[in-house]
Amino acid sequence: MTRKAFDFVNRFKFLFFLSLVVIMGKDQVFAQQTYTAFTGATIIDGSGKKPIPNGVLLLKNGRVMAIGTKEKTTIPKNTTIRNVAGKTIIPGFINAHGHVGDVKGIDPGHYSTQNIIDNLSIYARYGITTVISLGGDQQEAEPLRAMNDTISTQRARLFIAGEVITGKTPEEAIAVVDRNHQMGVDFMKIRVDDQLGTAPKMPEEIYRAVIKRSHELGYKIATHMYSLADAKKLLAAGSDMLAHSVRDQPVDEAFIQLMKKRKVSYCPTLTRELSTFVYAETPEFFSDPFFTREYDSEIIQPLKDPNRQQQMRNSKSANAYKQQLPTATANLKTLSDQGVPIVFGTDSGISTRFMGYFEHMEMEMMAKAGLTPMQIIVSATKNAAEYMGLKDLGTLIPGHWADFVVLEANPLADIKNARKISGVYISGKEVKK
Ligand SMILES: [Zn+2]
Repeated sequence: MTRKAFDFVNRFKFLFFLSLVVIMGKDQVFAQQTYTAFTGATIIDGSGKKPIPNGVLLLKNGRVMAIGTKEKTTIPKNTTIRNVAGKTIIPGFINAHGHVGDVKGIDPGHYSTQNIIDNLSIYARYGITTVISLGGDQQEAEPLRAMNDTISTQRARLFIAGEVITGKTPEEAIAVVDRNHQMGVDFMKIRVDDQLGTAPKMPEEIYRAVIKRSHELGYKIATHMYSLADAKKLLAAGSDMLAHSVRDQPVDEAFIQLMKKRKVSYCPTLTRELSTFVYAETPEFFSDPFFTREYDSEIIQPLKDPNRQQQMRNSKSANAYKQQLPTATANLKTLSDQGVPIVFGTDSGISTRFMGYFEHMEMEMMAKAGLTPMQIIVSATKNAAEYMGLKDLGTLIPGHWADFVVLEANPLADIKNARKISGVYISGKEVKK
């Protein structure tokens, strides 16, 4: 080849490479051209199956390529090996009921693209690699959710419900559904709750119209509810997910059968209840290093104010929710035992429900309710992905996104070991600490 031709070919190669970088983004071009294998860990894949001892998790381009025992998994040549012997790998947790973008510390009203990213980064650092925001999502959220199928995120993946649907007439409410649809949401969300008799409740005529319209447009609909009676009516009307616990009384056989027949998922959000009364005193977790690493003393200072605490002690609603927490807890155990699909969620991301940390408290509360660590993990991985219809997420199986957490200790021995985070990986890339 002549010198000139050689230059020409090289220049062409360089331009081709440059345009690849431009088209695909530098992360796609440079990241994980080769295989990476995490070896030696106990791997919990999220399916509920027995963990894999001395396992291999093989990744490429942000996705799981293979998972299995060392003996049965072929590691290709030139694979980068990450020896994580003695540790445990679990899928990243999915919070099926959170909120993002509004809160900074405990202050609401900060909705912006940057704050959504900041919130999702906090979740990610706690091992929550996917958040379904069930309402309060504005236009800024859509481009971020649209990035779910790229590998360049250093934050939790985001799914959104848009505006919580309200309206004085069916037509008004349907107009909100249509606006959400235009915006590009993943779910619809309504509230059917009179806030302990202090607010008007959405009438059945309206929620029936909303559910019908949502289904016509191809959306699942999550419903915020409180009482057993409303939960049953919502199930009959077609709700696809109950976004909170039944709190007013024990669930009954008719309700259980309805849930099972329609395969509706149940999201307990026990920490939501806790948040309504826990700040009547200074809670113990304020001095937990796992909490203070994200939330400093300045952020929590207002919650230590004696007047504010006194107000909460005297609050009628705080006392009512506190009294009902044991009912909610018992209902979770009953429904789990009966085989109703439990999906993990906290309703965090609202002021004083601390993103990331509350998810770990929720797991602890679920364990206290009587669920096994495996049941809790499945609720936050396979169940959340399956029942919310999230693609390529939840379990660590070939083809799925490589969203996982490396733990120093096995959470099957104690769910609190999920706090012993060695590293969080989203699309196979470690999230900055
Ligand atoms: Zn909520």
